[in-house]
Amino acid sequence: MIAAETEGTATKGFAVHEAGTNFQPFDFVRRKPRPNDIAVDIQYSGICHSDIHQAKNEWPDIMPATYPLVPGHEIVGRVAKVGDAVTKFKVGDIAGIGCIVDSCRECQPCQSGVEQYCIKGAAFTYNGTEMDRVTPTYGGYSDKYVVDENFAMKVNGEGDLAGVAPLLCAGITTYSPLNRFKVGPGQKVGVVGLGGLGHMGVKLAVAMGADVTVFSTSPSKEGDARKLGAHNFVLSKSAEAMEPLRNTFNFILDTVSAPHDLMQFLGLLGLNGVMVVVGVPPEPTMFHQGSLIMGNRSLVGSLIGGMPETQEMLDFCMKNNVRSDVEVITPDRIPEAYDRTIKSDVRYRFVIDMQNV
Ligand code: NAP
Ligand code: ZN
Ligand code: ZN
Repeated sequence: MIAAETEGTATKGFAVHEAGTNFQPFDFVRRKPRPNDIAVDIQYSGICHSDIHQAKNEWPDIMPATYPLVPGHEIVGRVAKVGDAVTKFKVGDIAGIGCIVDSCRECQPCQSGVEQYCIKGAAFTYNGTEMDRVTPTYGGYSDKYVVDENFAMKVNGEGDLAGVAPLLCAGITTYSPLNRFKVGPGQKVGVVGLGGLGHMGVKLAVAMGADVTVFSTSPSKEGDARKLGAHNFVLSKSAEAMEPLRNTFNFILDTVSAPHDLMQFLGLLGLNGVMVVVGVPPEPTMFHQGSLIMGNRSLVGSLIGGMPETQEMLDFCMKNNVRSDVEVITPDRIPEAYDRTIKSDVRYRFVIDMQNV
């Protein structure tokens, strides 16, 4: 470990070593901060369903898992060190790290602030490599992260940092499409699936002034949906409840993590209505083209958000007092949190306390 201290940043993490196995403690060394880097002592790390898909290698064709895999891309912590050229942060500041930690910075998407679509391929926070395409990235289920300050967010405001961590993925992934399609007052918005992303989608769409309906498979979530600010709650399995809503929505955000029928929701869109899919189920889905053609509807995808928009989302959340509803756990409970999330029994984001590992 002495070598690690001099050559890099000794880090304690939790990794899966192959698909289907449990998390084990995993010590590794992050790079020594470079001039533009900050070293962050991680306080909280959210559990996103993408972590589960990847730990289980459920996306072998689009994002195959590389082991050992240390997930976690909803990271909040305190800046412990800053490189000589760092201008945005000082020691003691609170920083957020989301799904990407670098990109080529030169291509058109990077120049436009949508680094997640970097033509050369962004460096994902975990299950990827740095831009050298060699050094593996390990995520936030660990006690430290070293990142270029340009890929870290400023968290202004100290209260409930556990509820801030999920904003770095669930928050931006829902904010970005709501923002892009200018969701606001007078619009009827549906959110499909009330999990980590879904509950943030509800809070954000409500904060933006829209009339929000939750579509859920879990009857027990109705009370929570209303507490989150939703105006309406519909059991998507009930044909009786769904039928009268046909052709009535302006915008629908589909956050579901498992295979499901898209046409059921496309049919709810009115003329020129838009449905954005952010959920990435393991298997592809089929739908009839007619469900788009009738009503001039659009079906759109969206991937997290770029650095400027992620900072904008965080500032929006701070200003409007929006946080994630979280259940804070210790790392030994990660397997239980995974099982409960898969069973849709998450209220509404598990967040790992990484401060005493
Ligand atoms: P989550 O917390 O597990 O929530 C998913 C919700 O989907 C569940 O709570 C449940 O809501 C619903 N659901 C689950 N199984 C279902 C089924 N068989 N049929 C219908 N509904 C079902 O997951 P999450 O963290 O929000 O992530 C959701 C998805 O988004 C994942 O696939 C994840 O990989 C993806 N994601 C994408 C991006 C992006 O950039 N596009 C970013 C982050 C995550 P109800 O109980 O209300 O039905
Ligand atoms: Zn995520
Ligand atoms: Zn690029």
